[in-house]
Amino acid sequence: MKACVLHSIASIETNPLELAEVPTPQPRADEALIKVSVCGVCRTDLHVIEGELPRQVLPIIPGHQIIGRVEQIGERVANLKIGDRAGVPWLHRTCGVCEYCRAGKENLCENAAFTGWLVNGGYAEYAVAPADFVYQIPGAFSDEDAAPLLCAGIIGFRSLRLSGITGSAPGKRLGIYGFGAAAHITIQVARHWGVEVYAFTRDERHRRLACDLGAVWAGGSDDQPPEKLDSVIIFAPAGELVVAALKVLKKGGVIALGGIHMSQIPPIDYQLLYHERVVRSVANNTREDGLDFLRVAAEIPIKTRVQVFDLVEANTALNALKHDAAPGAAVIKV
Ligand SMILES: [Zn+2]
Ligand SMILES: [Zn+2]
Repeated sequence: MKACVLHSIASIETNPLELAEVPTPQPRADEALIKVSVCGVCRTDLHVIEGELPRQVLPIIPGHQIIGRVEQIGERVANLKIGDRAGVPWLHRTCGVCEYCRAGKENLCENAAFTGWLVNGGYAEYAVAPADFVYQIPGAFSDEDAAPLLCAGIIGFRSLRLSGITGSAPGKRLGIYGFGAAAHITIQVARHWGVEVYAFTRDERHRRLACDLGAVWAGGSDDQPPEKLDSVIIFAPAGELVVAALKVLKKGGVIALGGIHMSQIPPIDYQLLYHERVVRSVANNTREDGLDFLRVAAEIPIKTRVQVFDLVEANTALNALKHDAAPGAAVIKV
């Protein structure tokens, strides 16, 4: 099969993904072989390629927002059949037995595998995934429109929850720092729930997209919005935004950090954090987060804005993401 393979860590500007012919993977007893139709592009792919994550497996095929069709199943698979449309997310597999898995926190599993980081992902014609971790995709979404739901959407949804925003809090004020793929989906859930959204982004096109999607205010990361905010989600990987966000956060408010990697957070004056403000990270998701999100996404329904690239253009898509050149989400059509 054809796949985009990373052989060594490098900056994306050097176009390190190599389109190569590699063996098609074979599903194990509990896995499905998926013929990839579309794979979403995520900032985490950049972190994998550029070596910003603590572990690395090489060579690796990145990509963890896979939409495709089931081509083959292992002998123990009961929940999928050949021809089914399926979505393969970032959470590839958990151990089911560690203390976190047993406590319903499989997103924190000690022995988890992650698609496109620790096992091969979807920048390829085929990928394998454990059937229990594969999602059914609501029929309302095309393959292209569905791909960004699988990480940008699900992680954005978990970030919303951890920032204190739920469906029963209309009128709350939410700030979002960084307005890429995750933000453009998250704002639609927040608006659906009657939440006021304030978008902080340096890029003028991203501010316009935020306002098109219902933000009441859009500005730069050091700008002061007209109101203090109940909750903030930071999707941009810049640690200094934590300090900026604390300055616009109400007493008792929560800042959720939605990325897997962030540059160093500068020293924080305790007075900024005092009054029970909370800063917390968001790590992966549980399968339940994904199911809950996909249900809400179909109900709204979420409209993703995607820019489609060919498999041979994977480096180009990632360069566009790094340099904020693609408003909404980039996806690779295989
Ligand atoms: Zn576990
Ligand atoms: Zn991702």
